[in-house]
Amino acid sequence: MKIKLARTLGYCPGVRRAMDMTFGLLAQRSGEVYSHGILIHNQPSMELLFQKGLRLWQGENKGTVIVRAHGLPPDELAVLYALDVTVSDATCPWVHLVQRLVAEQAALKKMVIIWGQANHPEVIGLMGYAGTAGRVVATAEEVADLPTAEEVVLLSQTTQNLAKWPEISAAVRDRWPNALLKNTICEAIKLRQKEVLRLAKEADALVIIGGKTSGNTASLAYVGHRTGLITHLVETIADLSPDDFKEVKTVAVAAGASTSSWQIAQILQTLRTLARSQEKLSDFWSRFLRALILSSVIAALGLASLAVCASLLMGLKPPLLFFSFFFFQILALYLGRDIFQSRNQALRLADPDRIAFFAKYHNYLVLFTLTSAFTALAVALMTSLALIIISLGGWLILTVHQFTPRPKQPALSRALAKPGLLALSWALAIIWAAQPPTTTSYSFSFPSNLNSATLGASGVVWAQIFILAILTEVLGVQGDRIFGRPTLSTILGEVTLKRFLNTFLAIWAGGLTIGWALGALPSLALGLIFNGPLYNYFLLKLIFSKPERRKLNPTLDGFLFEALIFSQLLLTGLTALLWAQY
Ligand code: SF4
Repeated sequence: MKIKLARTLGYCPGVRRAMDMTFGLLAQRSGEVYSHGILIHNQPSMELLFQKGLRLWQGENKGTVIVRAHGLPPDELAVLYALDVTVSDATCPWVHLVQRLVAEQAALKKMVIIWGQANHPEVIGLMGYAGTAGRVVATAEEVADLPTAEEVVLLSQTTQNLAKWPEISAAVRDRWPNALLKNTICEAIKLRQKEVLRLAKEADALVIIGGKTSGNTASLAYVGHRTGLITHLVETIADLSPDDFKEVKTVAVAAGASTSSWQIAQILQTLRTLARSQEKLSDFWSRFLRALILSSVIAALGLASLAVCASLLMGLKPPLLFFSFFFFQILALYLGRDIFQSRNQALRLADPDRIAFFAKYHNYLVLFTLTSAFTALAVALMTSLALIIISLGGWLILTVHQFTPRPKQPALSRALAKPGLLALSWALAIIWAAQPPTTTSYSFSFPSNLNSATLGASGVVWAQIFILAILTEVLGVQGDRIFGRPTLSTILGEVTLKRFLNTFLAIWAGGLTIGWALGALPSLALGLIFNGPLYNYFLLKLIFSKPERRKLNPTLDGFLFEALIFSQLLLTGLTALLWAQY
């Protein structure tokens, strides 16, 4: 069974904003945080927020009250602002626009017809802005029951079904030929509905992931049903039945605007497991690649290649032992970290594939980790004091990183600290270690090793690890929000982050060229422009090409992206080796 995914998945901008605001307030821990009604229509996301400490507002006169994404009628807002509470308005900006439009039209003495569900919180809010001028219709037939009016305007609940707009607007125009028609269905919703229609042409079943009470998810499911395909509305994995997919060749997956990426990831994992159980040996290579990535073998190979490249840049010829040390050391560190983190509940939600892999092979992976760690230590003992220090230092960094409580630093400096400082320390450590192993000696001459070649090589390694850290963070942005950890993506926003990264790539390419021109780096530096800055330029274009899809669904192309991210290190090592040959 093939699985086709909608390009737009995960929270829509309005829901993401509301969730981010709430996570942010809960992380501050400065008093009770309440939601005025259900913040978003998605049960698993709400449960997560309740676990983190969110409470439903029951009229308390303290703490922070968050206005739900659907908005509130103005009189209820006024009551809130009159209380001794901090009001945090998470009303979606698009809903705000519609509220303003309703108020303007009502002020012009027009009858404001709102097409939507009368009991939906957004419509209740809109009716508050319309006052006595407001009327709600759910179907075209109900237009005939509306009272007479001189002038009317028709607008829509933001999550209505786009395909029904012509029908409803025609019914209004039939009665009021001069009626003003304002299709206020949100762009995010229109896009998702169009995608379901596109996907339906390529699949023989549809899975729509989202809340059972979510209006927009119901609209998506309706669009799916209208295509004639069997459409499953799935909120949790309990809603998936393997029997439903026995005869299915291609299943298309779309999700409602309030469906989280980790909820999608869980459903996808179940679907993938189903698909794998239907396939035979042809799947061997994809499973093999998956196992290599999840067990960090590719990451370790890549980083060890980078260490080899660094020493070649310094004019040294590293022995095979040097490569094997870094391979086993990095493998042990990555596996140790992942085994430790696999007990983390937030990661269970954010990356269920990885968690399932670690649960299934736990004992083998622990054995693999210990074997790798001892092999690295043995190689270090056979080689040089520097490698022993690197080996022990690596474990120290990992332990400190895992067990140190997060300091109360400004969010931006915390976000920069991880990829920046860690990468810097790694890079310097690798470079520092680079010279002694080539002489297989216990004596090394730091800091006299600190010449222009060493500095140039450390710059190359730092740039490569820095971009690696940033790219892996970009892919895991939603998971990091659940962790409550700030990242550059969440702080800077996508546009600024893209500009920042493109500037960084340009400086990196310039640095390599200038380093070569000044004689600080060998001609290898020019070759590294291709698998460093240029490679990452195209990788970034790919990652950001469908912003919603890339940002909100980290596991969607997770394996492919992880492979692409770490492959650049293998390419770097390969380029360096080829360069050394010729
Ligand atoms: Fe806002 Fe549209 Fe999302 Fe509703 S679906 S919260 S209107 S962005």
